[in-house]
Amino acid sequence: MQHEIKFGSRMVVFNLEYRKRKSLGIKVHPDNLVEVLAPVDAKEHKVLERLKEKAPWILKQIDHFNTYKPSTPARRFINGETHLYLGRQYRLKIVPDKIDAVKAYRGQLWMHSQNPEPEVLKKQLEIWYKHKASVVFTELLEEVLPKFKRYKISTPVLSIRTMSKRWGSCTPAGRIILNTELIKAPKGSIEYVIIHELCHLVHHNHTRAFQNLQSRIMPDWSKWKDRLEYSLA
Ligand SMILES: [Zn+2]
Repeated sequence: MQHEIKFGSRMVVFNLEYRKRKSLGIKVHPDNLVEVLAPVDAKEHKVLERLKEKAPWILKQIDHFNTYKPSTPARRFINGETHLYLGRQYRLKIVPDKIDAVKAYRGQLWMHSQNPEPEVLKKQLEIWYKHKASVVFTELLEEVLPKFKRYKISTPVLSIRTMSKRWGSCTPAGRIILNTELIKAPKGSIEYVIIHELCHLVHHNHTRAFQNLQSRIMPDWSKWKDRLEYSLA
């Protein structure tokens, strides 16, 4: 059943289900859905009371998911339009040519194309971003990994994918999934996402222990997290 609860000035929607269990369980999903599992005999006002107590934690999880997701504006693929690469703006220069090639150089993004139609250029640039992502993310992961040596995590397998809701995620089996779109962010921000996910291989949730580890590995992580949101906004 879907309910709403007011935490201060904020309205939070949650799903309440009754189960055979002893205590209240609360989960916040990446799509902001709050799932509440209550014991079968729990009184609704007691559940709400308990949720109010947990409000700071719930809001923190929701905010974490909200800020940790990409939003890139639509592009038209015309000359002079700016495109991001590693946190910098590049001006598009479209060159009809006998070969296809993309190059970012001194603030210009040169796109040589046999068929310079917007849809074709869009595909061409996506392929270039994907290629760059795989090179840069692999390099950064290798750079960062030694910092986790004493936590004895196994070397993660890296996947790169376009995701609409997350910058990165990881699986318990040690796979790290990074969003292709991250290639548009500054290197420090990409490093932050990699470190964030690697910390999850040590601590699965956003506990105090997780926060401490993240700050130990990357003391200025919040600056790079902010830049991530700013750079792609
Ligand atoms: Zn996380």
